[in-house]
Amino acid sequence: MLGAPGAGKGTQAKKLADKYNIPHISTGDIFRANIKNGTELGKKAQVYMDQGLLVPDELVVDLVVDRFKDADCKDGYVLDGFPRTIPQAEALDEALSKSGERIEYAIDVNVADEVIIDRMSGRRACLNCGATYHVVNIPPKKEGICDTCGKSLVLREDDKPETVKKRLAVYHEQTQPLIDYYINKGILKSVDGTKTMDETFHEIVQVIEM
Ligand code: AMP
Repeated sequence: MLGAPGAGKGTQAKKLADKYNIPHISTGDIFRANIKNGTELGKKAQVYMDQGLLVPDELVVDLVVDRFKDADCKDGYVLDGFPRTIPQAEALDEALSKSGERIEYAIDVNVADEVIIDRMSGRRACLNCGATYHVVNIPPKKEGICDTCGKSLVLREDDKPETVKKRLAVYHEQTQPLIDYYINKGILKSVDGTKTMDETFHEIVQVIEM
């Protein structure tokens, strides 16, 4: 799943993983879990994440490729937030080709920057279980409290407006070139991420099952 931060790719990736009963692999979630658990990887990643910068490629690629070895990945997976740079995409293709596999679809959830800035300021996250909400679009049942685990919701450091602007700049510079990368491979599908969550999901499923 490709898309700017806040385009809704995480939500759509989870829904896809549920529908097709395959794992949802989010590098952002993996880093956040490492930060929460105080691991060495988490400490290194946090320095970049808090500034809205990408974590260096060498800290990301092996992490994801190792995850593919788990039994639940045998029928496929939804990658969310990875790859995020051309070198990551090339490393991914290389690792997959060794086992005769390939990326089947690259789905770009397309949303304009202004809409994203507006959306992100309303985003709330549970740092305990990783669930995400939006004060208007996906409110928790009880304001400020996670539906899943009951802990308090926060505006993540990397969702604050200044960090969002930085993340969008980083997205345009480092991640957007992946759109052409996957167009050239003939597997890019673009969907409109400004519709409702369910409408966008419907569009994604149509694209996959076409
Ligand atoms: P996300 O939850 O996908 O928006 O990721 C949050 C942050 O984690 C990003 O802003 C990056 O700092 C870092 N991150 C997640 N995935 C990657 C990746 N594939 N490459 C580099 N940094 C990443």
